[in-house]
Amino acid sequence: MASISVKNVVKQYADGFPAVNDISLDIGDGELMILVGPSGCGKSTLLRMIAGLEDITSGDLFIGGERANDKAPRDRNLAMVFQNYALYPHLSVYENIAFPLRLNGNFSDDEIRRKVEEAADTLELRDHLERKPSQLSGGQRQRVAMGRAIVRQAEAFLFDEPLSNLDAKLRGQMRTEISRLQRRLGITTVYVTHDQTEAMTLGDRVAVLRKGVLQQVASPRELYQRPVNLFVAGFIGSPPMNFVPAEIEGRKVSLPFVSFEVPQEVADQFGDRQLLIAGIRPEHFEDAALVDANDLSHSVSFSAHVDVTEWLGNELFAYIPFETSREIHDRLKTLARELDSESLRTQLVVALDAGSRIGPGEDAKLTFDASKMHFFDPVSGDNLTRELAAVAS
Ligand code: ATP
Repeated sequence: MASISVKNVVKQYADGFPAVNDISLDIGDGELMILVGPSGCGKSTLLRMIAGLEDITSGDLFIGGERANDKAPRDRNLAMVFQNYALYPHLSVYENIAFPLRLNGNFSDDEIRRKVEEAADTLELRDHLERKPSQLSGGQRQRVAMGRAIVRQAEAFLFDEPLSNLDAKLRGQMRTEISRLQRRLGITTVYVTHDQTEAMTLGDRVAVLRKGVLQQVASPRELYQRPVNLFVAGFIGSPPMNFVPAEIEGRKVSLPFVSFEVPQEVADQFGDRQLLIAGIRPEHFEDAALVDANDLSHSVSFSAHVDVTEWLGNELFAYIPFETSREIHDRLKTLARELDSESLRTQLVVALDAGSRIGPGEDAKLTFDASKMHFFDPVSGDNLTRELAAVAS
């Protein structure tokens, strides 16, 4: 097993487009690192450079401390598991798993049998060894692909969206299985996904990429509680964080639907900015009717006209339109040319306790905990209050 490091790595394709732009990342021995980001952000390209399937335009790759830029893929001893599993359809499960050992040529039949059976036990495939891949479920095929990686005793696993072909239920099961297996085997793993839930539940640490640039590398908890910028804040969390224009006057913050004061230490972070983007997660709202009045002292209350509700059994989503004045809207647009329209939403999404009786078309009193809010610079997107946000252990 080995650590993997990339230092200032760039990938420029023939058209000159930097698909990966100066990324540095250290993946510890035995660590499970997730690479996550929207389609086209460069995560597969980065993984393929580590695997040796793509040349590195500039920068360095180290595997187990050794520079590996110029090593052939097979000399890197990494095991790659793709989303289409790449199994041989005419071979049994046994022969599929045994394949890399036979290719190696240094193992006796007895050794091969022992290794294949050991892997099959770990993956609960013992009863299926004689089957062909076509006689397996998607999840079982996935495990065969992992079995092939395990018997090779690779230095690291590289996964490229391994679960995206599976249905939601199986995806959940396989996620848990991969996590359990990875911990048991302690194999350094790099795992690419565009699914933030997968990223949050699987990874020791998660690297968030956007347009080829690394935005933040942190534990799932840190990403959620202390996102470095608007992009990470909006990408991590479901439903996504609400972004709302905020006018600032000293300690006073005016959102389109309520004004309140923030502590001086928060206001100190604003500098002389007069217009910011406030971020409030849907789950940080509460139905005031369900909150003990004594617990409301740190919360901001406001009246809301609820448009649509969705009751999901374990929580209630309510959609609340709000209006931003034309002037604020235009000022924000001028300031923040990069701000995507997603960031300038016109409705709040709030996730309330399932016991809430709020219904569509009703006026409701809601509260939110202002100490859990984030404030972003509209031009750079930087989270100005990140340092103040505590990370719960
Ligand atoms: P997805 O989730 O859609 O697979 P990704 O984050 O894995 O996306 P990459 O496949 O790494 O993204 O691609 C990053 C960027 O590089 C994209 O804009 C893509 O169009 C571009 N790209 C990928 N392969 C090539 C290539 N062979 N030649 C030119 N451009 C490429």
